[in-house]
This record gives sequence, structure tokens and C-alpha cells, in this order.
Amino acid sequence: MPYFDHNATTPLASVARTAWLQAADEAWHNASSPYRAAARVRLRLDAARETLAGLLECDPACIVFTSGATEAAHAIIVHLAATLPVEARLAVNPTEHPCVLAAAGALFPGRITPLPLTPDGIAATEPVGQLIADQLAGGRGAVVVMAANNETGVLQPWRELAKRCTEARVPLVCDAAQWIGKLPAAGLGAVDWVFGSAHKFGGPKGTGFLKFPATAGNFIIRPGGAQERGHRAGTENLPGIAAMVAALVEAEQRKVFLETDRQLLRTTFEQAVMVAVPGVEIVAAGAERLWNTISLIMPHTENHRWVAQLDRRGFEVSTGSACATGKDGPSHVLAALGVSPDRARRVIRVSAGWDTTVEDWTALATAFREVDADLRATANPAVVSG
Ligand code: PLP
Repeated sequence: MPYFDHNATTPLASVARTAWLQAADEAWHNASSPYRAAARVRLRLDAARETLAGLLECDPACIVFTSGATEAAHAIIVHLAATLPVEARLAVNPTEHPCVLAAAGALFPGRITPLPLTPDGIAATEPVGQLIADQLAGGRGAVVVMAANNETGVLQPWRELAKRCTEARVPLVCDAAQWIGKLPAAGLGAVDWVFGSAHKFGGPKGTGFLKFPATAGNFIIRPGGAQERGHRAGTENLPGIAAMVAALVEAEQRKVFLETDRQLLRTTFEQAVMVAVPGVEIVAAGAERLWNTISLIMPHTENHRWVAQLDRRGFEVSTGSACATGKDGPSHVLAALGVSPDRARRVIRVSAGWDTTVEDWTALATAFREVDADLRATANPAVVSG
């Protein structure tokens, strides 16, 4: 069944499965125990941390393993709220994932400045630079911007923003959950605060990581034990961590170099679907986007009906982000891009994986054409019968 919802989650990569089983079989002892078998678990944890740090290009001592991106986002924003001055502001990209927006809203009430965006939802570098200078520099706040958007695939200029934030000594928080495993991780380690989630790139669910700045040595996600050098208490999930790192190493060594080919598949599909379904629109069509993600505004009929019909034909797509699915009201991401609630209710997110073939893409375009015809016929039977 062609699966086109990889931004929600990915199937477990076979290298990750192997690494998970190996760690669970061979290194199941508690890393904190006092004998040699436990020391071997600690060595494996250290090796995983070093490999990940090598990919991100940062100091391994600045990495904490977490249960995923949501935990990381909350922990970072809690830390900023506790360490920045009480009147400090967070400049937050309005298209962030709800886990970031919820934490920011709860911990910086009345002290959030939305980042200025271009019409495609990209943080506008010059106005953001101005905002940093006017409102945040000198310890007055921090910037929060994701690397790639989960709904539209739009890429943010995180490198440029990191440079500007570093110059102004303003902390930058970057949710890289959708970037990592699809595009090279190199350079992300230079951002103050970065985090990711294993199940977005072929690793297991409930495993992730964050990188903190060396200046935040007192950063504690939760106290109660010396695990993770005291940054996060709780017995380490070595199988999950080993599997996550194995999945990322594979993506970095064998996959992310194929980005250009994959982009071509996406563009070809976009052209095909525009012919197949007259009137369909692609959100942020002109922007730099992830090679795997397309957000489509269908010309008619509420998105749940498209999704159900495509599902019946064997294609799994989404109405938006997985966490937004089923919630009332249109997506905040599309609202930030000026998409009206009526159009937002017709949005479908297609997100491919590394194993998606050209045949899968072609078949999806054909399925869209068939569903379009069926839905038009149901809406207006006279047109078809006549
Ligand atoms: N950030 C982004 C951009 C995401 O797409 C997601 C998952 O959908 C998350 C954070 C949360 O990840 P997790 O549910 O693994 O904590």
C-alpha cells in the first residue's frame, strides 16, 4: 500500500530494527550498575552519542537523549523561561509545531512576538534581524524557528538566522524533526538548541535527542538520577538510541545525497496532479521545500472525503499534520500563510519516503484523477449522467 504520510511517522528501517534487537539482546543491563556488563552499555551509549554529535557537528557532551521532539521542545522552553529575565520575549515562528507553540504560550504568556514571514511562510531574514536587534539582543529574549515545516515542507533559513542570533548573543531554538534524515544534519550542531525525533527518519517511536549550548551546563530536563550526566534522570533506552542512530547514519550515508533526484519526483508529481485535478493548488509552490512534502488545496470537497477515497484505493495521505488531524478548526500553519478557513478544509498533505518509487507517485496522481471524477459526480450526478 503506497504510504504517503512519512511526516507523521515512518516505518522502522531495517538497520534500526537490527540495531534495536542487538542492543536489547546484548546490552540489556542497566547502564548505571556497577559491573562490567553495565560498563559495556555505557560504552555503547557513548558511541551512539559520539556518532550523532559527528553528524550534527557538535560536542557529544552537549547531547541529551529524550523521548522525542515534544519532550525536547518543552524542556528547552522551560529552561529558557527559568533562565532568561522575567520580562524576556520569545520571537516564535507562527508555523511551529503545536508542541513548541503550546510550551511557548504556557511559559511566555503575553511575551511572544510572532516572527515576520514571507507569503510562503519563510522567516523573513532582514525583518527578523531587525527584530533581534530591537527586541531581543542583550539577553532580552530568544528566537524559535523550525528547520522544515511538517505541513508544507517549507525550509527555513536556519543557518542565516543562527549566524544573526550568534552575533547578537540571542539563543536560537530549532526544531529539526522534519529536516533530520531527509536533508544533511551537518551544521545543525552550531545552533544553540536543536532537537529531533527518531520515528521521523526510520527510527523507533519514543526516542529522540536534543543538543544544548555549552553555556547551558546547568540544563536539566528532569532531576532524580545521574543518567545523561545529570541532564535527564531515568534509565537510558539504549535499544531505542542505538536504533535511532543507526537509522540516521544510514540516511546520511546512503540517502540524503539523493535529494535532487527525489525533488524531481516531487516536481513531476506536482505537474501530473495539476493536470489530473484541474484547479488544485500547491501551497508555497515557489518556496524551497522538503523533497518529500506537498501540501495541496483541492478545488472542491472537504479533505476527509478525499483522504477516505484515496485510502479505499490503497493510498495513505493526510489532511495535515498528524496531531492536527481530527482537531477542530483549520491548520494554524495555513492560517499563517493567509489560506482562508474554507480553503484550509480542502488541504491534503502528501509526504513520501526514501522508498517511494516513481510508480507510486504516478499511481497516486492517477488515483487523485479518479477520486476527483467520483467526488464531482457525487456532488453533481446530473453532470455525469447527462
Ligand atoms: N516537531 C515537528 C516539526 C513534528 O513534525 C513533530 C511530529 O509530528 C514533532 C515536533 C513532535 O514529534 P514527537 O511526536 O515525536 O515528539
